[in-house]
Amino acid sequence: MRITHGSHTDTGRRSNNEDALIAAPDLGFFAVADGMGGTEGGEVASALALDTLHRYFERVGDGLDLVSEPGAALAQMRMAIRMAHRAVQRAAVGSLRDMGTTVVCLLVRGERALVAHVGDSRVYLARDGELSQLTRDHSLVAAMEAAGMPASPELAHIITQAVGQGADAQPDLSIVDVQEGDRFLLATDGLTDALDDDAIRRGLSRSKDAARALATAAYEAGSRDNITALVVQAR
Ligand code: CA
Repeated sequence: MRITHGSHTDTGRRSNNEDALIAAPDLGFFAVADGMGGTEGGEVASALALDTLHRYFERVGDGLDLVSEPGAALAQMRMAIRMAHRAVQRAAVGSLRDMGTTVVCLLVRGERALVAHVGDSRVYLARDGELSQLTRDHSLVAAMEAAGMPASPELAHIITQAVGQGADAQPDLSIVDVQEGDRFLLATDGLTDALDDDAIRRGLSRSKDAARALATAAYEAGSRDNITALVVQAR
């Protein structure tokens, strides 16, 4: 299977872009992060977290097998996110002291992919015209909904964990099958707040520049946040 990708990140209606993305197709590694905290903290946190993850998987190389050794692969991803957490924590001094970041990762190996996330950035999968969300937000709203409680809109954007903040990050991890024609979307909340599932499915079905089309659609739908889309396709 051949893996291709496209990406777009946009400052949108904000003054600076605290989102970051990385695509390392030679490693099958793709990630998006949404930083927060202070005037420049968000940008530093998201970039530092992704850089740490990227360097980790560069060191591991292509030695991770999601078919024969899924447990080892999950442990490696957990370790990579822990290293990112510590790197952001160590750098969080002075004006950067409040910084943190969401992280969402996709590691594609052959016919499997490992999905990992901390915070409320998301991964979606479009397959045969159907869209499914592969991550569940680490947010107050998601936690209240899961508990059957009505969540009020003013609680939106309060996330329950972030890379670089608090105790060790506890990523959710899963391994999914990859089929020819699958399209994965990694996105920040600047995109997912502005677009419903139908709009995301439509954007992902575009044959060209799906990431840019999705980001543009989110902007036109009134997103007030930074907007990031990374589309990974199996051909
Ligand atoms: Ca955001």
